[in-house]
Amino acid sequence: MGEKLDFIRAELAHMQETKSLINIRTMDSAADGWMVVDGKRVLNFCTNNYLGLANHPLLKQRAKEAIDTWGVGPAAVRTIAGTQALHLEFERRMARFKGVQASMLVQSGFCANQAAIPALVGRDRDTGQQDVIYSDRLNHASIIDGARLSGAKIVVFEHRDPASLEAVIRENLPKYRRGLMITDGVFSMDGDVAPLDKLYEVAEKYGVLTMVDDAHGEGVLGQGRGIVAHFGLHGKFDVEIGTLSKAFGVMGGVIAGRQEIVEYIRQKARPNLFSSALTPADTAACLAAVDLLEESGERVERLWANATYFKAEMETLGFNTGQTETPIIPIIIGEVAQAKAFSARLFEEGVFAMALGFPTVPQGMARIRVMNTAAHTRADLDKGLEVFAQVGRELGVIS
Ligand SMILES: *Cc1c(COP(=O)(O)O)cnc(C)c1O
Repeated sequence: MGEKLDFIRAELAHMQETKSLINIRTMDSAADGWMVVDGKRVLNFCTNNYLGLANHPLLKQRAKEAIDTWGVGPAAVRTIAGTQALHLEFERRMARFKGVQASMLVQSGFCANQAAIPALVGRDRDTGQQDVIYSDRLNHASIIDGARLSGAKIVVFEHRDPASLEAVIRENLPKYRRGLMITDGVFSMDGDVAPLDKLYEVAEKYGVLTMVDDAHGEGVLGQGRGIVAHFGLHGKFDVEIGTLSKAFGVMGGVIAGRQEIVEYIRQKARPNLFSSALTPADTAACLAAVDLLEESGERVERLWANATYFKAEMETLGFNTGQTETPIIPIIIGEVAQAKAFSARLFEEGVFAMALGFPTVPQGMARIRVMNTAAHTRADLDKGLEVFAQVGRELGVIS
């Protein structure tokens, strides 16, 4: 008996042998600059809580009030009875904040890609004619899954390379019905930024639809308004995907852009038709985040000041911080075992920073990734730098 589960046992044993099992740590406190992780109080460089909003008093208060007014769940999908006035208020406010015509709230950033991509491209049911997606080689898994789900042909262009985009468009344009260019805004492994203005120029020249997944740029780039604002492309770019679970500190996804496109996706997207709406508490907390960001750019400025300081100090210490242009600071170590040992030593010394290795990043490019946030003080950063320096010398990464 139980032979049908053999494949699971074999795979888990293989993962154990090759040390590829993920060690999932337990958080024993709220997400913040310092956290209790597996029972130990540590300086936290692992969460995407860029603006320190995940445990912010105003967001928590608004979430509690929303529960009292609206209940805990919407009890329906958006298109049947789940669209509460609160959702519409968020969508209006978010669109205004970002300087776009319209926005639509979905359950998560992952979900936003499954909603938007298959709504825009796929295969014609009658003629069988296929559309084509032009996708950056290093795009996020949720873009890849949304693209596969759509049934469109997926053609990869080289990372952040407008010339490569143009070459693949020219090659594929005549063979397919319509095209959609998709790129991450900020790439989370290296912290580098898509050359959105140049990619836009190329796509526009050939009448290709444009989409950017700005999960790590929402609340971070463009004074918090995202990558499209950063490049001054609002009103031109077709679709922006955002998440409310990173800088916004809550949960949820956003599809923003031109009115026509957003309304079309609202009608067509299966996560909007077949999965219940975001909770009132989450929605109200997201609205509070928009209030804070509209009121002041102070948190965004503190985030960037911290990131700039941390990166400069790490480079002075002799660490290799790669190609980053954002508050994501990779510290390139080389071999996976060395990066894992580095991360383990940091944790023992009270600093929580993740090691990333192949296949998440290329072979020989294993790294520690530091996520800077506005929740850290200068003293926190100095403590982090001191521990990095100590462990770096101990393991021979720096001299
Ligand atoms: C984190 C991330 C997502 C997923 O967002 P969630 O709101 O956590 O589901 C999607 N796309 C990119 C590029 C991301 O970095």
